[in-house]
Formats: sequence, structure tokens, C-alpha cells
Amino acid sequence: MSVFENVKKALEGRKYVVKEFATAEEAGKYLDSQIDGAVVGIGGSATVLASGAYDLLAKHNEVHWHWKNEDQNAERKASALADVYLTSVQALAETGEMVSIDGTGNRVAGMLYGHKKVYYLVGTNKLVPTLQDALVRAREVGGPARAKQLNRKTPCVVDGKCHDCRSPERICNGMNIMLMPMGGMPAEVLLIDQELGI
Ligand code: SF4
Repeated sequence: MSVFENVKKALEGRKYVVKEFATAEEAGKYLDSQIDGAVVGIGGSATVLASGAYDLLAKHNEVHWHWKNEDQNAERKASALADVYLTSVQALAETGEMVSIDGTGNRVAGMLYGHKKVYYLVGTNKLVPTLQDALVRAREVGGPARAKQLNRKTPCVVDGKCHDCRSPERICNGMNIMLMPMGGMPAEVLLIDQELGI
């Protein structure tokens, strides 16, 4: 039985199209086969990076990603207007809700409005039993891990725990819960049988 069996049913019940892949590279190749001649925006995501989708899609699409270009704000703005948006989340509940924390807001904004389609790429390490567990994972695991990765001066970098800090270098300014695809913006969830991202 696939680790994703229950969550796949839950996501389909919530009107997402769901695909399963053994590796991030396979998910990247799938995206390459689905998206052509489009403007593509990408949110900050180690999972999307691992998929190789950026390099594949850039050959036949206009792709904007602030992780790949120097003018990060221009890329974030261009991504907001893209036809297609690629992202991941910090936690996926088996009941189908997806939770994300964001500092700048471009990534959660990309999930909410402005595109013809959104793709979510999610590895096994993001999967938790309930929405409550997803909220905890996003705050207690995803936030501190990302702050550490960015070498921020925040208390979570010292002890690995979230303190709901007031640090000027705080990275957790908003939290988004996707319950269903937003109106008029169909979404696919690509479930990948690997640990990916944080
Ligand atoms: S709120 Fe502050 S302490 Fe908590 S994870 Fe975010 S940056 Fe770290």
C-alpha cells in the first residue's frame, strides 16, 4: 500500500487532481510534459528545485523564480502574474489540508490567486495525520529549519523550537491553509515518494 493512499483519496475528494511519483525528477519530467509556451512562476521550494522543473521548463516557457535570478523582487512580481504556479507546502494532512508559512508572502499569494493552474509538489516528510499536526509541523519544524537554513538571528536557530519571536529576522509572518483549490484556479498535487524540502 502506498504511503499516500489515504491522502490521495482525501485530496481527490477536495477536487484536486492527484498524481504519484517515485522521485522528484519524475515529477519534474511530468511538469515538463504538461506545461508548454506558458509564463510560469515558482515559489521558494527545495522540492521544486530537486525536481529539475526549472531547467526543463525554461527551455520552452517563460519561467520566473526568485531563487534563480538576481532581481528577486522583480521575479516575485512576475511570478504573481504567471499562468502557472509551482510550489510546495510545509505540511500536508492525511485529511487533505495543506499548510504553509511564509515571510514575504509571495508563495502563499501564489496559492491563492492569479493563475490558470497551480501545481503542489509534496514529499513524504510533509505528510502528517491531521490538520492540527500540519499546523504544528509548519510552525515547529518548517519554520525553525528554514530559519536555520537562512542563518537568521532568531531564537529557533539556537534551540530548534519556535518561540513566536519578535525578531526583525523572523521568517514566519503568515500562515495559509489550503482547504480546496481556490475558485477558478484548478490545482494538481504531485505526491512524491521521497523526503524533500523542510
Ligand atoms: S516565529 Fe521566530 S522563532 Fe518561530 S520559527 Fe519563525 S523565526 Fe523561528
